[in-house]
Amino acid sequence: MNQQQILIIGAGFGGLWSALSAVRLLDQHQRLDVAVTVLAPQAELRVRPRFYESDISTTVAPLGELFDAVGVNFIQGSATGIDADGKRVSYRDAHGEQRELSFDRLILAAGSHVARPAAVPGIAHAFDVDSYESAKKLGDHLQDLRALPDSPERNTVVVVGGGFTGIETATEMPARLREVLGERADIRVVVVDSGAAVGAAMGEAMAEVISQASDELGVTWRLGSAVQSVDANGVVLADGERIDARTVVWAVGVKASALTEQVAGERDRQGRLHVDRTLKVLGQESIFATGDTAYAATDDLGNHALMTCQHAIALGRSAGNNAAADLLGVAPIPYSQPKYVTCLDLGAWGAVYTEGWERKVVLTRAEGKELKTQINTQWIYPPVAVRETALAAADPLIPVVA
Ligand SMILES: Cc1cc2nc3c(=O)[nH]c(=O)nc-3n(C[C@H](O)[C@H](O)[C@H](O)COP(=O)(O)OP(=O)(O)OC[C@H]3O[C@@H](n4cnc5c(N)ncnc54)[C@H](O)[C@@H]3O)c2cc1C
Repeated sequence: MNQQQILIIGAGFGGLWSALSAVRLLDQHQRLDVAVTVLAPQAELRVRPRFYESDISTTVAPLGELFDAVGVNFIQGSATGIDADGKRVSYRDAHGEQRELSFDRLILAAGSHVARPAAVPGIAHAFDVDSYESAKKLGDHLQDLRALPDSPERNTVVVVGGGFTGIETATEMPARLREVLGERADIRVVVVDSGAAVGAAMGEAMAEVISQASDELGVTWRLGSAVQSVDANGVVLADGERIDARTVVWAVGVKASALTEQVAGERDRQGRLHVDRTLKVLGQESIFATGDTAYAATDDLGNHALMTCQHAIALGRSAGNNAAADLLGVAPIPYSQPKYVTCLDLGAWGAVYTEGWERKVVLTRAEGKELKTQINTQWIYPPVAVRETALAAADPLIPVVA
């Protein structure tokens, strides 16, 4: 049979849910003449929201069995080029060979990565918690600190950037350091942030909670500052101040995958492609963007999806459904996600859960932590590898947060 192809680049939250929702719609229309293929370096969902944790051993969920159960083809490789007019994607396969795939509809779900500015001298000395590999490298490094003689620089961690990732990394760090260096070690965790107040970008109510948690955990903030250079033994700030630290974690700025640059279209500051309500890239005939590569309106009030898995899951379910609908000539379901929540881990203090774009604080401390644990260990993991269950879970009308 000459099959049409829906090709998905990426097997993260956006890619996984795109694949499942595309198959779901094709299944409903009994269209065996359309294949759904995922191209990614691994058939795994790597649960990035957990990479700040001390134990990341359960943060990689295999997808092979699930893909087999629903009939998604998986190709191992990394996309290197997108030819929108020729409807072809070039990629490097698992053996390093350059190959090509053709598509009828393409869904770009290649995610994002931390932006490490080349202009900061010594940036290569900084760790990050962006990928499984880099989070593991940080974990191994922390373990190695145990072998070093006691000193202020051994006992100090500088976290650069006080956004979501930086805060989760910093507030988890006192417990991680004590686990390695002992309860009585004179540890120091410093967040360097350009804001004028602790958690300033999070809104007043949430910022107050973050400030309280930081105080109780002994995490200090160096505000109104930027890191000018990094070296193996610390950082120098823009005003010349030096902080000695064997561990520097970079958590400033996130950029959409560079593949977005290969698709003609408007992009936001983070490189995300502007999409319409069906998640098709504006100006493109056959290319959809989803997850962290899409700049998508969540409602009619001017709010847009953030680079979060909360949005990537819903964007994935919409993109897959709508790419298949476009190919089949059936009505799409416009992407809509008016409810926005956050659940920020604050280490041994607990967690804070907020609702609404104004981030109204709803749960804190142990209650917040219980919810965070549920989110991080259950809700964001892939469905079981049972065809009916997995396809039912991919309905784009199911809200990620009820
Ligand atoms: C430390 C940390 C904490 C976070 N905390 C939260 C949180 O609490 N709540 C929340 O909602 N979000 C959180 N996030 C954000 C969340 O992880 C992302 O928004 C989410 O992973 C985006 O999903 P995605 O599918 O778009 O991209 P990703 O999850 O990044 O997946 C991208 C996929 O594309 C693949 N890929 C990349 N390049 C190519 C290529 N060239 N060819 C083929 N495949 C490619 C990758 O291998 C991967 O499979 C956090 C992120 C981090 C790093």
